[in-house]
Amino acid sequence: MGELVLLSGGLDSAVCFGMAVCAGRMPSALFVDYGQPAVAEEMHAARSLCKRFETELAVVNIRGLPSVGLLDPNYRSNPSGVRHSAYTPARNLALIAVAASHAEATKNDTISIGACAEDNYPDTSETFIATANALLGIATNKPLSLIAPLRSVEKRKVYKLAVKYGIDPKETWSCYYPKTAGNPCGRCTPCLARRFVESTEAER
Ligand SMILES: [Zn+2]
Repeated sequence: MGELVLLSGGLDSAVCFGMAVCAGRMPSALFVDYGQPAVAEEMHAARSLCKRFETELAVVNIRGLPSVGLLDPNYRSNPSGVRHSAYTPARNLALIAVAASHAEATKNDTISIGACAEDNYPDTSETFIATANALLGIATNKPLSLIAPLRSVEKRKVYKLAVKYGIDPKETWSCYYPKTAGNPCGRCTPCLARRFVESTEAER
């Protein structure tokens, strides 16, 4: 039995992957294409990570979620876009359900998700993670566990952990809305967070 990491190509899940590798758990990885605007960049980052760690990346397509939040096609042209919520209703719940199906079928007993301290959506809360973990304990023939090893870790510290666990932040993708293919917008919440952390670290 092993660990399945929900690998989005972003820093948090990449660090979760690195943590599992360093712990000798030889994780497998699952990327979910739910129609996110940066799907090409995220999948490229996830694939590159898996290639480096010699792990296969499974990809599942669940496109068709409602066109709101991150999936709102008007978000990109909204001049106040950085303040617009990217919350996509129950997205993580959907990702975990897909991961549970995949994990049981591939004989993994643990699912790892990369929520961190700054994530304040309903389906990234500590209560949600604990409750989802309890649900997975009874939802499948073989009980599954859900872990979120970075849930109480601030983004700034996640950057430090990345180095510790063999992840180069540059090989991950953060931006929600690439300006052009492969180029971050520089305005969305993850772009701003990344710039802040990188500038803070540069001053040290
Ligand atoms: Zn961006």
